[in-house]
Amino acid sequence: MTTEPRSDTGTDARPAAQAGTGAVSRPGSAPRAETVPGPDIEPGAPHVSADDTAALAEVSAKLETQPATAAIGWAVERFGRALSLACSFQDCVVVDLAVQVDPGIEVLFLDTGSHFPETLAYVEEVRARYDLNLTVVTPGPEADPWPCGTERCCELRKVAPLHRALQGRQAWLTGLKRVDAPTRAAAPIVSWDEARAMVKVNPMATWTDDDTDRYAADHGLPVHPLLAKGYRSIGCAPTTRPVAPGEDPRAGRWSGTGKLECGLHS
Ligand code: SF4
Repeated sequence: MTTEPRSDTGTDARPAAQAGTGAVSRPGSAPRAETVPGPDIEPGAPHVSADDTAALAEVSAKLETQPATAAIGWAVERFGRALSLACSFQDCVVVDLAVQVDPGIEVLFLDTGSHFPETLAYVEEVRARYDLNLTVVTPGPEADPWPCGTERCCELRKVAPLHRALQGRQAWLTGLKRVDAPTRAAAPIVSWDEARAMVKVNPMATWTDDDTDRYAADHGLPVHPLLAKGYRSIGCAPTTRPVAPGEDPRAGRWSGTGKLECGLHS
């Protein structure tokens, strides 16, 4: 029986649920993971604010050595349906972890319009496997004049749509890992997200790429088809290339531009 780490550690298919045209919803379920309530934030308490930053840091410190499902469990218990998971669908480890805790958790996918067909097919495969409560978030017409590589493309196809999708939420979950980029090396498990005025939870922050690969293999998770073709970090097609063996997995993203972040996590 394997356990999650935590130190511990081709088609034109479109995902079924499109934001604004039919996000799937279903009854919620009780959290099943252990939880680590914060010292100053009681489960069921109304709102968390920037004033709770220190208390959130205490929660984060407690969760640092706990399984990722403990962080998800804390967030589900604390925020209930005011919590959403944003997933890039490069893999589905964070989805697998989250639905163990709450099978009905809302999962957001940002469809920039520039994803590989393989990514869209993978989203649909994962959605079907878990019967996900999936919301596909698409950009507004204001993004049309800004193709990939232009100044505002990531802002209008990722950052602003996520911001809209998270309206009314109190917290969001991500699959962010510290190893993803130097800019993420100090990412906490739980923190106050100043930009969105809500709590941000990174249950996999301490995981390595090997942890993720091992979990996916041990649990028989579906694998993004481009991973077998040398793509180790998968984003929009125009800015993603495969990497050579031994090359930094993220060298294939925005290669040669110096860009490390699209703005979702900065
Ligand atoms: S990676 Fe390229 S296409 Fe995707 S949102 Fe950013 S600039 Fe736009």
